[in-house]
Amino acid sequence: MDHFQLRNGVLHAEDVDLEALAARVGTPFYCYSSATIERHFRVVQEALSGLGDPLIAYAVKANPNLSVIRTLARLGAGADTVSIGEIERALAAGVPPERIVFSGVGKTRDEMAAALLKGIRQFNIESEEEAVELSAVAAGLGRTARVAFRVNPDVDAGTHAKISTGKAENKFGIPIGRAPAAYAQAQTLPGLDPVGIAVHIGSQLGSLAPLEAAFERVGALIAELRAAGHRVEIADLGGGLGIPYDPAQPLPPSPADYGAMVKRVTAGWDVRLIFEPGRLIVGNAGILVTRVIRTKRGGATEFVIVDAAMNDLLRPSLYDAWHDIRAVRPRAETTTATVVGPVCETGDTFATRRTVDAVEAGDLVAFMTAGAYGATMASTYNSRPLVAEVMVHGADWAEVRPRETLEDLIGRDRIAPWL
Ligand SMILES: *Cc1c(COP(=O)(O)O)cnc(C)c1O
Repeated sequence: MDHFQLRNGVLHAEDVDLEALAARVGTPFYCYSSATIERHFRVVQEALSGLGDPLIAYAVKANPNLSVIRTLARLGAGADTVSIGEIERALAAGVPPERIVFSGVGKTRDEMAAALLKGIRQFNIESEEEAVELSAVAAGLGRTARVAFRVNPDVDAGTHAKISTGKAENKFGIPIGRAPAAYAQAQTLPGLDPVGIAVHIGSQLGSLAPLEAAFERVGALIAELRAAGHRVEIADLGGGLGIPYDPAQPLPPSPADYGAMVKRVTAGWDVRLIFEPGRLIVGNAGILVTRVIRTKRGGATEFVIVDAAMNDLLRPSLYDAWHDIRAVRPRAETTTATVVGPVCETGDTFATRRTVDAVEAGDLVAFMTAGAYGATMASTYNSRPLVAEVMVHGADWAEVRPRETLEDLIGRDRIAPWL
């Protein structure tokens, strides 16, 4: 459920008229609904109630805007981070360090040191080599790093190849069969305190079966580690649950179904659970509003050319992702069109020969479900400044990231001294 609804024939974000908002902030812009973010967080909390006192560490990479993180931090969310930049964002947004988890396959020594000095809760480490390095960095600082080993359970998540992370050939985690030896070795390293196991097999999962298979392997590993005399306090079950993008596709499992499955599989584990949802919380809470520049009759199809492009919303060209496309003031007619941006790439296509609301030059169009992996993946390709991000709260709104100017964009370049 989200708070983007038609009122008097115009799409609103909560109580804010998107035509009026576009007139104020220009297009394209991302628009986030704080009520939707809050609602989704509470739905996740509710689904995971009955699992003790789990830490819900929002995966910052899905949408790292400070206002988004702060909205969640105020509800008690932690943060799952993958760089020192994300850790700094989480802290700046008000997430206490003891709720911050540092994941990622390529943490540098500098990042490790900075994170240790910030006093974050835990490092999810992804190789024996990383364990040795982190121990050295921690020992050098006179600290101990609490670590969970991210294991690779060799499970096919059944999602797009570019967002599958739990197969043996993926770069993530250590092969689950090597985990007992890695854990035992970590126990002997002076700078480490091994506290648990982590797993994350991919994103936009449409079925619980691969998650359940991965969690069962984690459960068996925990039992094996304990039998070998190791202490295991934490199981971090990652994120990855899918959300509906295309109404014609089957619905992904609900958070409640996910929670029930986790409860069944983790019964008797006797650990504190951590979850790292990203998309599930913010995906449906954001849209990208764009204006039609013109329509164009092509050789084989009608084109609708909008002022947003693949540099603003990469998912369709990167993942073949489907975003619902709606007119902000629908005319009660539809048309079949290919919706494209202005960037000089054939991949700059949002929809191919799709039946969409009929639109004309100057009309506003919304790409729905763009709150996750939208603005955060934007680039300035074709010298297009990063677009504005706006958060709505009831009838209030705020520009939570103003549009980049051409001066911001071009002014960062330097002409080499010999030119
Ligand atoms: C990206 C990521 C997540 C969040 O994934 P979603 O599909 O957005 O829930 C969680 N944990 C890790 C380690 C990740 O890399």
